[in-house]
Amino acid sequence: MRGARIWGRLLGLEHAVVERVEFDRDAGVVVHARPVARRRGLCGRCGKRCPRYDAGDGRRRWRALDLGCVRACVEAVAPRVRCRAHGVVVAGVPWARHGAGHTRAFDDQVAWLAAIRWPGWPRGPARARSPS
Ligand SMILES: [Zn+2]
Repeated sequence: MRGARIWGRLLGLEHAVVERVEFDRDAGVVVHARPVARRRGLCGRCGKRCPRYDAGDGRRRWRALDLGCVRACVEAVAPRVRCRAHGVVVAGVPWARHGAGHTRAFDDQVAWLAAIRWPGWPRGPARARSPS
């Protein structure tokens, strides 16, 4: 499905299948996705293939890069697996780091914006000056 691939590319989703896209008044664009078959059932911490434990807490959302002026997020099931090294953990997804509430593309963008020096701007929020 060509349209699904475009949504995936817009949000930086790799190794994922976009199932459908909807618009939510509060969350904006919600892209329902799942990892491709070879990326399912992996430990969220070490990435090793593990047996499924249970369905976890159901569906989960990760904040994604905005699409113009519209917020966006990725929604997917978040089953748990039983890892020999890490015990019962949420299965990893290819679009986000373990435990993150944002996609990798979103995190990378934020890190880049925090590191760049903007002419005339104080560097980083810790050095931001309040107007006096
Ligand atoms: Zn593990």
